[in-house]
Amino acid sequence: MALKAYAVLEKDEYTGDIFFAKHSIVAAKTGANEYGDGELSYVQCRRAPWADVFAGKGVPAKVAVDHGWRFECSGCAITIDQDMESEHHLPVSGVIGSMHGTVYCCARCKWRRMKKEARRQEEEAAAIDDFKAIVRARFPDVEFCDDEDQFRGNHAYLTRSWGSRFWHRAEIMVAFRFPGMAIGPAHFRMDSHHKIGPTNAYYTCCNGDREAFEAYAKATRKVVH
Ligand SMILES: [Zn+2]
Repeated sequence: MALKAYAVLEKDEYTGDIFFAKHSIVAAKTGANEYGDGELSYVQCRRAPWADVFAGKGVPAKVAVDHGWRFECSGCAITIDQDMESEHHLPVSGVIGSMHGTVYCCARCKWRRMKKEARRQEEEAAAIDDFKAIVRARFPDVEFCDDEDQFRGNHAYLTRSWGSRFWHRAEIMVAFRFPGMAIGPAHFRMDSHHKIGPTNAYYTCCNGDREAFEAYAKATRKVVH
């Protein structure tokens, strides 16, 4: 028996998706888990025969728009629906992406988004490199933890004002191992959670490593004559 397409919508805001199943109850349960806190009574489930052909492939967003679905563009955040042609002069046939994935209003918007994302990654890498240079100047023999994940390892969070070319370094953190370390990497970090006043860059280490790190810092301090 082939899979059939069902439109499952949460009843308050009518958000939902197309689910493929052999029986409507299976689709309804899957949809309820994703959109209705697991409550079958919170969702409505209806057959969507037009989507049957997309079983196992993903439903193209532009086809879904023709059947009344709406999306938010992942690039520029406009509403993608049947009115976008008159409101934004963008044809529905140019919509990119599939339901359950990332949807863009047009190819140009997706390209812009990708370009901006690549630029952000470059800027993040540059910020991390700058911080490594500061640490290296103070502690020449530490080992940077490029292998750690973004929560324990190197991390940069940059923001950019609308229309500005300047990236603001909101949060930078580099992780490193030092001689005598027992528990985990130490960090050199800067964050601007406090909106007023200058941002602070500082060193931190795990509680159990505090003595070891202080001893190491003392031993490596340059003696000024
Ligand atoms: Zn867009």
